[in-house]
Amino acid sequence: MGKEHLFFDFDGMTFDTLPSTLLFINQTYNTDIKLNEIVNRGSEIELIIQKHTGDLSITKRQFYKLYNENYLMSLERHKDIQPMKNAPQVIRALREKYILHTLTARQFTGFDVIKYMIDTHLGGAMQHIHCVSRVDPDGKTKIVTKREYVDSIDGYKIAFFDDSLHEVNDMRGAVPSFLFDPHNYHPEIDPKRKTIDWTQIGDMYL
Ligand SMILES: [Mg+2]
Repeated sequence: MGKEHLFFDFDGMTFDTLPSTLLFINQTYNTDIKLNEIVNRGSEIELIIQKHTGDLSITKRQFYKLYNENYLMSLERHKDIQPMKNAPQVIRALREKYILHTLTARQFTGFDVIKYMIDTHLGGAMQHIHCVSRVDPDGKTKIVTKREYVDSIDGYKIAFFDDSLHEVNDMRGAVPSFLFDPHNYHPEIDPKRKTIDWTQIGDMYL
């Protein structure tokens, strides 16, 4: 039998990227937005920026263009970001037994940065990297959701972990899925459906 598959989100699951994302936003818009304002609110980020700047002309599209070009594609912006606590040792041990996948909502244009982070901090232990959105040469954006990616993988799939409740719920029926919730942002979720530390993940599968 071949090795079994494990799937992990990138931002806020494998790497502690939210503080650097916030720094980028505050420097770009000259704002003083706090971390708790943007947690789990990526889909309405332009509204938060509008509120803080008073500039109602800022659109989601404009924001994500800047974010992609000046954050997601910037090695400089990523050089001080660290993995989540205990992630490196658990991931390296999991690598011995499983095929590991990184699934990320980041655009494919930022692939080199993702790869750099995985190579630098995790010894390249994540063998597969899937970016949900990719712009084809003809300019069309192609979306392959995390769910669609997992569905496309042959072989035995063990589990999926993500700090986004929406992604965890979307994976129902495809693979056992768990919320990563180290800061207890989701006290309403059954503890059996979530993890709070990478060592727990190690205890489950090593
Ligand atoms: Mg995430």
